[in-house]
Amino acid sequence: MSDLLDPESAYVYAIPLRTRFRGITVREGVLIEGPLGWGEFCPFPEYDDREAANWLATTVEQVTAGWPEPVRDRIPVNCTVPAVSAERAHAIVAGSGCRTAKVKIADHPDALPEDLDRVAAVRDALGPDGAIRVDANAVWDVETAVRQIERIDRAAGGLEYVEQPCRTIEELAEVRRRVDVRVAADESIRRAEDPLRVAVAGAADVAVLKCTPLGGVRRALRVAEAAGLPCVVSSALETSIGLPAQLALAGALPDLEFACGLGTVRLFDGDLITDSLLPENGSLPVPRTPPQPDPELLHRFRHPDPQRERWWRDRLDRVRRLLD
Ligand SMILES: [Mg+2]
Repeated sequence: MSDLLDPESAYVYAIPLRTRFRGITVREGVLIEGPLGWGEFCPFPEYDDREAANWLATTVEQVTAGWPEPVRDRIPVNCTVPAVSAERAHAIVAGSGCRTAKVKIADHPDALPEDLDRVAAVRDALGPDGAIRVDANAVWDVETAVRQIERIDRAAGGLEYVEQPCRTIEELAEVRRRVDVRVAADESIRRAEDPLRVAVAGAADVAVLKCTPLGGVRRALRVAEAAGLPCVVSSALETSIGLPAQLALAGALPDLEFACGLGTVRLFDGDLITDSLLPENGSLPVPRTPPQPDPELLHRFRHPDPQRERWWRDRLDRVRRLLD
């Protein structure tokens, strides 16, 4: 284990994003090579070492143990529509090849008229049998959520679900009691015990899972089973080196009712493998083995800032001690 996670031999990358996402414009992380292949360790900078240890456990699982046998070969994915004009939203969905669109709403306090136009344009692009989900990223209070969800649901010609309309589990539960649209919990699920709390509180119909904060594919599968909710697997903005763990989770879930949020490599302006994990006809393949980075791409995206490189090596060094 200590050799495998030697910070001095790890590779630190920096890849620009096409558009600002989660407040960042450059994605950074570390690649680690193990007996089965390569893995990625890329917890966001604000996560503490304790949280980052689960991300590293996911990496170690990928490069040493591999993943459980999948029960499906391909994973349907959603396209993502940021807070853009109705025209732009239409174009994104029409060009995506996806049958499910995830639309960002409630981007600012007076966003409702734009949100209504945006979801109507997305419905027009998808047709009647496509699915539209919206993500409010926890900004509403209960009253605002109830009022706006009903109007957005009508404008969208029916929503698949609304993701994290409010911040707390109690608020989610109240909204869920008062609207007909399904509620999904995302931000409320960051630790292994969270999905169980969400389920017990009756706070959601759907759980958004990422294997990185849960400590790997096997642990995420156990959490999903215990929660007993339909799950959507979502990426943590990995490159095509780390994304396979999320795809392996989606591939191994006994039931997969909804498209997953795994078409995120297209947000990157570059990648570390030549055969990037970009959706084809709205789906991605479930990988059986960890991927192999391309030497030329490794060279191109090596982190240009030695101080930042040092920061990542030191972080890996601290976090690996938590796993021992
Ligand atoms: Mg979300």
